[in-house]
Amino acid sequence: MKRFTTSIARAIAALSLIIGAPVMAHEEAGWSLAIHGGAGTLNRDDMTPERDTAYRASLQAALDAGSAVLADGGSALDAITAVITRLEDDERFNAGKGAVFTWDERNEMDAAIMNGTDRSAGAVTGVTSVKNPVLLARKVMDDGRHVFLSGAGAEEFAADHGLETVLPGYFETQPRKDALERMKAEKLSALDVDLKFGTVGAVALDKSGHLAAATSTGGMTGKRWGRIGDAPVIGAGTYADDRACAVSATGWGEYFIRVGVAQTICHRMQMLGEDAQAASDAVIADVGQLGGDGGVIVVAPNGDAIFSMNTSGMYRGRATSSGVNEVAIYADE
Ligand code: ASP
Repeated sequence: MKRFTTSIARAIAALSLIIGAPVMAHEEAGWSLAIHGGAGTLNRDDMTPERDTAYRASLQAALDAGSAVLADGGSALDAITAVITRLEDDERFNAGKGAVFTWDERNEMDAAIMNGTDRSAGAVTGVTSVKNPVLLARKVMDDGRHVFLSGAGAEEFAADHGLETVLPGYFETQPRKDALERMKAEKLSALDVDLKFGTVGAVALDKSGHLAAATSTGGMTGKRWGRIGDAPVIGAGTYADDRACAVSATGWGEYFIRVGVAQTICHRMQMLGEDAQAASDAVIADVGQLGGDGGVIVVAPNGDAIFSMNTSGMYRGRATSSGVNEVAIYADE
């Protein structure tokens, strides 16, 4: 009898597949991912075809790493961690290896991560020896006692938690060194030498409907006096709330802190009912009005994965369970 019932059930399932009726009680939920590798002045004329191809390949590999986690049913937090660690290890970007130099010729990194489910967060600033600052930020979040650690204390916490450390020379690269030297010799501002900023970020929605955001950066070339940018400041460069959105920003950090960019985008979506694009465009316009520039990536609970920028380019990519899979560099792509 049991076997008979099972075969009837199988037959019904097969039939419903043929006629297109749903076999499962409810459809599988979707996922979305957006990533960036920094916004700034990016002109086609300054880019060789080889560099263009290499940047796109780096972005695609990071996007694929995060998409694989989400497609497998992994968490938004794990997906963005997979993306960011990859970009931190890639010296093309200003995070981890390849971070820009401070005025004192050091590499001091900032990172943050936030879980939209309970709005737990972890952030670190002025880190000089932790190979992957985003993993340290995640440890701070998981530990839960504090949200934001700096300098020597952050390094001590990293040692207590067994995070991989490297000698400071690991982060150094010649192009970043040249940028600092040029800045000093020609008395330029960070914006003149850092024509593209190179910070990295990722935001994701997982199949369980949870959002997460993370950002990692070396900051701006020639920074002094323990300067902290927007990336590790929760609400400025990084924010996630399941009820509203997940945001990672890149650009001129001082302006992004003053505007509270990431949290304001989420608030506009939650309070004003704006969609992710409208809210982000409004906030980036506000940054521009003050004189700042940069961009954001945003993922919404409905699966929207959007970009907004007032620069001529932003290294970026997005992928969703409905088949979107693209990387881009210039604003007009
Ligand atoms: N927002 C970063 C900072 O100000 C820089 C960047 O995005 O490239 O530190």
